[in-house]
Amino acid sequence: MPVPESTLWEMQQVGNDLYRLGLVSSHGGNLSLRDGHGMWITGTGTMLGRLESRHISYVTASGSHEGPPPSSDTVLHSTIFALGGAQAVVHAHPHHAVAVTFGLDEFQPEDLEGQLHLGTVPVVKQGSGQAVEIAASLQSKLVVVLEGHGAYARGQTLWEALHWITALEESAHITWLRRAMKE
Ligand SMILES: [Zn+2]
Repeated sequence: MPVPESTLWEMQQVGNDLYRLGLVSSHGGNLSLRDGHGMWITGTGTMLGRLESRHISYVTASGSHEGPPPSSDTVLHSTIFALGGAQAVVHAHPHHAVAVTFGLDEFQPEDLEGQLHLGTVPVVKQGSGQAVEIAASLQSKLVVVLEGHGAYARGQTLWEALHWITALEESAHITWLRRAMKE
């Protein structure tokens, strides 16, 4: 099953932006786009900055796949799509967002943009229930942090999910800078 041109293009562009912006390491993060009852998702360990069609897997509703081994986060992406109206999911490792949320249950942006767009951002603890908790949080929230790891954002498109990842990182960076100025 070939990856649709528009799906490949959107994944390539957003993947490249995430890498160039330093929001993922060379082989980190993952992307998915819903397609009918299944989804297109990046393969495990693929380079988001250099995506080709051979790096993208199609996963059906029953969990079988065509293409490369799908991301280790596949069950989480499927759960997000199954629970609600998201069409796209982005997972990245924004440095400041990870750094300022250790030990928190939620992150409160201090800047106006973050407050307007994101509101309070849940911080989910790592553990066996993390996938369900992240998917459930994304029903009402645009972006969620997994403590000590990274962030998951949803949208109607990957561009929209990219927006929420970058908005979160901007807010966290501002929080970081404000703390540094107080010291
Ligand atoms: Zn990750």
